[in-house]
Amino acid sequence: VNIAAAAVGFVMIGLIFHLTTQPPSPASEIERGIRNGEFVPFYQPVIDIQNGRLAGCEVLIRWRKPDGTIVSPGAFIGLAEATGLAIPMTRALMEKTRDELAAAYEKRPQLKVSINLFDDHFDNLGIVKDVQTIFDGAGVRYDQLVFEITERQPLPNIDKAKVIIRRLRDLGARVALDDAGTGHGGLAYLQQLGMDVIKIDKLFIDQIDAETTSAPIVDALIDIGRRMGMLVIAEGVETFDQVHYLRQRGVEQAQGYVFAPALSTKSYLDLLERMDPI
Ligand code: C2E
Ligand code: CA
Ligand code: CA
Ligand code: CA
Repeated sequence: VNIAAAAVGFVMIGLIFHLTTQPPSPASEIERGIRNGEFVPFYQPVIDIQNGRLAGCEVLIRWRKPDGTIVSPGAFIGLAEATGLAIPMTRALMEKTRDELAAAYEKRPQLKVSINLFDDHFDNLGIVKDVQTIFDGAGVRYDQLVFEITERQPLPNIDKAKVIIRRLRDLGARVALDDAGTGHGGLAYLQQLGMDVIKIDKLFIDQIDAETTSAPIVDALIDIGRRMGMLVIAEGVETFDQVHYLRQRGVEQAQGYVFAPALSTKSYLDLLERMDPI
C-alpha cells in the first residue's frame, strides 16, 4: 500500500511538473487561435492596369494575437499544414472574408476576391463542400471568387486536383495558378488543370527596371496566358516602370507595393468607397 501510494505520488508530482514546465506547443496555440478567431484576412488590392480601376483583392492571412501583434503567414502556415490545421484555418478565413466583404461586394458584382488554397485542399472534395457551405446564397457570390493554387509545391494528386478545380469552376468561381514559373507544375499544370488566371511571380517582375526593353520570361508567361485564354495578373509590382512595361504588353491586372500592401479590413473598405463609389 505504501509503495502504491508513493508511486501515485510520484506520478502526480511528475504530472504537475510536466504541466507547469512545458511551454505551450505552437500547434495547440494555432488551434486556440482558430477557436478565438485570431486568424484574420488582410486584403491586397488588385488593380486593372488598363483602366486604372480596382479589380478586387487577394486575401492574405494574418494572425492577430491577443496582445495585438500581427504575425505574417511565413511564421505559422508551415506548422498549420504539418498539423492538419490548414483546412479549418482556411474555413475560418473564408467565413470572415464573406462576412466582412458581403455588403460592399453585393453592391459591386464586378469585384473579385482571391483566396489562397493549400496543396492539402486538393486531396479530397472537402474544400468544395466548405466553399458551398460558406458562400451559398451569401453576399459574396461564387462568380466573385477566385481560388489560387501555388505551383511552389507539388500537388499530391493531379487527377483529384482536376476534379476539384472542375467543381469549383462549375460553381462559377475562377481558379488561378499562383507563383507561375517558379515551381514544380509549370507548363504541365497549365496544360492539365484547366485554369482561368495566371499570376506571374514577383521573381520575374523584379527583372524589369527602367532600362528593360525585354524581360523574356515575363513576356513568355504573358504569351502563354494569352494563348490559353487566361487572365494575366502580375504580382509583386513595386515600380511605375514595371507597371508601364506590363501595361504596354497588355497585362490586364497587377498587385504590389506600388499600389498597396495587404490592407486591414477597414482600410480596404475605405479604399473601395474611394475608388469605386456607389
Ligand atoms: P503569395 O500568395 O504569393 O502572396 C504574395 C505575398 O507577397 C504576400 O506576402 C504579400 O504581402 C507580398 N507582396 C505583395 N506585394 C508585394 C510587393 O510588391 N513586394 C513584396 N516584396 N512583397 C509583396 P504574405 O502575406 O506574407 O504571404 C506570403 C505567402 O503566404 C503567400 O504568398 C501565400 O503563399 C501564403 N499565404 C498567405 N495567406 C494565405 C492563406 O490565406 N492561405 C494560404 N494557403 N496561403 C497563404
Ligand atoms: Ca497568392
Ligand atoms: Ca501539405
Ligand atoms: Ca504569388
